[in-house]
Amino acid sequence: MTESCERSSEPTARVQSRDCPLCDGQHAHRLSYHRDAWRLVQCMQCDFVYMPEIPALDEVGTTFEWSQSFAAETARRRVVSPLLSRIDEWTRIRTRLFGRRTPIDDVKRYVTRGRVLDLGCGNGSYLASAGKGFSLYGIDISPALTQEADRFFRAHGGYAVCAPCSEGLSLFEPDFFDAAILRSYLEHEPDPSGVLDNLFWALRPGGIAVIKVPNYLSWNRFIRGPKWCGFRFPDHVNYFTPATMKRMAEDIGYRVTMRWQDTLPTDDNLWAVLQRPA
Ligand SMILES: [Zn+2]
Repeated sequence: MTESCERSSEPTARVQSRDCPLCDGQHAHRLSYHRDAWRLVQCMQCDFVYMPEIPALDEVGTTFEWSQSFAAETARRRVVSPLLSRIDEWTRIRTRLFGRRTPIDDVKRYVTRGRVLDLGCGNGSYLASAGKGFSLYGIDISPALTQEADRFFRAHGGYAVCAPCSEGLSLFEPDFFDAAILRSYLEHEPDPSGVLDNLFWALRPGGIAVIKVPNYLSWNRFIRGPKWCGFRFPDHVNYFTPATMKRMAEDIGYRVTMRWQDTLPTDDNLWAVLQRPA
């Protein structure tokens, strides 16, 4: 990775460039998706879709803090595409009313007690439904959110670490966790393979990781094009398909489970369960 100076359309942002996060390939063709100076490419060797120039890491915890940029993006979409953005928001409200699938539900299909880690834990609220038997841990890059999560996790036998996830994982003993959740996190991560590799060793043999990311093969992306809700510039830097998710995880040594309902093209997200072989 190399760092360069400011970009004209994002005057406060320093950027770093990177090769393909899946295969380290250096040859990619440019896609039509972009916003301002942020653009997407597809690797010519492995088909992975990614942003080759991303905000420098020290910008992510502050200038591009996800909770803030999510609110800003929602406001921007209301202006650019008011009807479609209202439908998107209504879908989220409807999901909240009638129940939604959560990664912790998937964890409980495999593990009923033990240490569970949330990567990109935010304020920790997504582990609130973990229930008895679980000690809660998290890693997040935002100091303010990590502090909030830490208070909550300490009341449930664990704690939160403020660090980039790769670095944060190395602070725990090997074989420490029974389960991990990566909910809407891996699409933000500059080095997704590196994080999954560190996580592999942080999980105990037989431990599992539940992943949810936007599905680049979602029909909505084909229908809505650049207005697809999965595109968030410059927050989302990786765009997975079921095939590229599987390859990245299997290259590291995970056993990958994706059921038919995990990769439906009618869903904006794809789900995967990664298991460190026992
Ligand atoms: Zn590649």
